[in-house]
Amino acid sequence: MKTICDWENCKEIGSFKAPVERDNSKKFRLLCLKHIKVFNKNWNYFENMSNQEIEFFIKSDLTWHKSTKNFGSSENFFNILWNNALDDKLNIFNSSNFKEFKKMKISQTDKDALEVMELNDAAKWVEIQAKFKSLVKKYHPDKNQGNKKFEDKLKKITLAYSQLKKTLGKK
Ligand SMILES: [Zn+2]
Repeated sequence: MKTICDWENCKEIGSFKAPVERDNSKKFRLLCLKHIKVFNKNWNYFENMSNQEIEFFIKSDLTWHKSTKNFGSSENFFNILWNNALDDKLNIFNSSNFKEFKKMKISQTDKDALEVMELNDAAKWVEIQAKFKSLVKKYHPDKNQGNKKFEDKLKKITLAYSQLKKTLGKK
């Protein structure tokens, strides 16, 4: 006997286990390959979320009528996140609001890198590129008679720039 995927309106065969409760791995429902992928992807989003992001996620309109509730306890907090991860009806992760929010997010590493480059958090990639060019000119050893201090500074700037290139250069 084959089990049908437990995802709403899905008629595929469910052969992958998806946990039903956050702390109880014994309970699960069966999903098809496509939906276990969606399930895992959604759950991974939470793993990398900061508290601020989670708060946004919960308080925003994206989480429907639940936004009027009080989210004082973290227990409640994560229960809701978990339930939403199980529930694809909201399509939260594909909503443009959520995508915009994710885009706005800046990691501590990037923040530090921007600081090294004497830029603020809102700096656009083109500004970073321009700033890099001007800093390289400013601190280039040729211009500073091989001053060790400037050499180190330039090294730091180059590292910061390659870090920012990794995250912002793609956008
Ligand atoms: Zn399915």
